[in-house]
Amino acid sequence: MDQSSPDYVATSRRKDKARRKRPGAGLAGLIWPQRSLITNREVAGPGALEPELWAKLQFLSDPLCARCGSPFEIAVDEAQECGACLAHPPVYDRARAALVYGDVSRDLVLGLKYQGRRDGLSVLGGWMASAGRDLLSDADLIVPVPLHYFRLVRRGFNQSAWLAAALSRSSGVKLSVDALKRVKATPIQGGLSADGRRRNVQGAFKVRRSRERLVKDQKILLVDDVLTTGATAEACTRALRRAGAACVDVVTLARVAGPRAAPI
Ligand SMILES: [Zn+2]
Repeated sequence: MDQSSPDYVATSRRKDKARRKRPGAGLAGLIWPQRSLITNREVAGPGALEPELWAKLQFLSDPLCARCGSPFEIAVDEAQECGACLAHPPVYDRARAALVYGDVSRDLVLGLKYQGRRDGLSVLGGWMASAGRDLLSDADLIVPVPLHYFRLVRRGFNQSAWLAAALSRSSGVKLSVDALKRVKATPIQGGLSADGRRRNVQGAFKVRRSRERLVKDQKILLVDDVLTTGATAEACTRALRRAGAACVDVVTLARVAGPRAAPI
């Protein structure tokens, strides 16, 4: 289903309405979540997680590879790229993530993806905006990694589109939720090798013909929930470049640590 279509909006609204009926989930809860995004227990004050889970989150900060955003253990020149990027430069320009993908951030992503927890979006979007501030300040257009039509219908929403919308709201950068289209229904990537992932998503994305003018000569900020090997981000970048994008940066909520590391 086209995410901008009335049917998509109606489906999302029905799901939102059902979610809002949760006990204690009033307007205040939508603005600032009062229930833990992971355990759904009430949290004492305004916050998204219990303090013990919050303490386990690993936020990414400098020093980072200037290109792929993987963390360095020692201070380096700010233009330094990691060995993996020097050996095999990714096709995207830069990538940044808010969190290292670990036990707690995985549960955050799963809550977003499979339970449709929209109530934490302003918090998660804020973390992404902070991690990707340089990329956001250069961007002309925010574009989420799309789901294939069948998966979108089954799930009812695209969590990457939600994150992209949160980033657009907080930064004022224009959003196009449907500039990219997934033209190949690819199997779930989990468990595949880096090469397997690359083959899996090869040719899987296309810029919609009706959005080509929107993308041409623009600096695009691609948004996804997790960056693992970067295969999906690279496949999307190729599609955006084919449509004439001037550059493509990537921001995700979490990324696997290590230089464009092992698959999860
Ligand atoms: Zn790198």
